Amino acid sequence: VPSAIGVDLGGTKLLIARVVDGVVDEVAKQDTPSSGGPAAILDAIRLGVDRLRTPDVVAVGVGAPGPGWPGGLVGPAPNLDGWDRRVEVEAPLREALRLPVSVLNDVNAAAVGEHRLGAGAGVDDLLVVWVGTGVGGGLVLDGALRTGRGLAGELGHMVIEAGGRLCGCGGRGHLEAYAGRAAMEREARRRHEAGRATKLVELAGAKRMKSSVFAKALATGDEVAGELLGEAVEALGVAIASAAALVDVQRVVVGGGLADRLGPQLVERIERATAAQLFAGLELEVVPARLGDDAGALGAALVALDAAGAH
Ligand SMILES: [Zn+2]
Repeated sequence: VPSAIGVDLGGTKLLIARVVDGVVDEVAKQDTPSSGGPAAILDAIRLGVDRLRTPDVVAVGVGAPGPGWPGGLVGPAPNLDGWDRRVEVEAPLREALRLPVSVLNDVNAAAVGEHRLGAGAGVDDLLVVWVGTGVGGGLVLDGALRTGRGLAGELGHMVIEAGGRLCGCGGRGHLEAYAGRAAMEREARRRHEAGRATKLVELAGAKRMKSSVFAKALATGDEVAGELLGEAVEALGVAIASAAALVDVQRVVVGGGLADRLGPQLVERIERATAAQLFAGLELEVVPARLGDDAGALGAALVALDAAGAH
């Protein structure tokens, strides 16, 4: 059976998986190099792929946390060291590995994984929303991933409030500014400095306010955490309902670090917030992702197999 290696390049973790017949056969996980720029990261990918490579591997797919452009370029990716522009990923890896390499946005890769083998199986039109450090999205229409010129499905940067909160991208009122973990952390610290007591700052201290910190604070009934999550849910409802009005998908799959940590209850709240905004009494299923951490690497491997004509 022709198999492929899928790479999920994240801001903190680099996950590399060998995928045989649609199943993850072996996984290697390491920290993403935080210095040395794109060259160090591409080197880590090359070494990781070589370690998992078997003779039946015919292609490599890479999902990366930035817009994926034609020609195998990715970026800017603010969560990766030195990646403040479009970086060539396909050509250097193809030359080093002597294998065909496909490159795409990481949430688009996860969308392909969930559509083929996870919570999106069985529908032709699907929106995948990834709620983690930021908010990403992937759009499957007529059974195929829609990439447009590189930005299709970037739900996180949809405007949900004109002139609203500042987004990490520099824009205002974008979904990610309300529902991304990093933006929620900034807002929690802002409210804390304005005099509100909150477990979020108590638990995180000066460190990153991880998804587990939000989960713990919510479990104790922390008021600021409750407000921030309520605002995130509302914002997601507005964005998903707006997306549904434009492309009328049959199902929405919600995954990502923060969503996984807060569980199916969060997804049910997002479904209700979406329903409250939907046009013409439309119904829309909103369900949790099913493939967990492997979704991106699995999807990238499937895309690579397709591109290599070996599916
Ligand atoms: Zn933005």
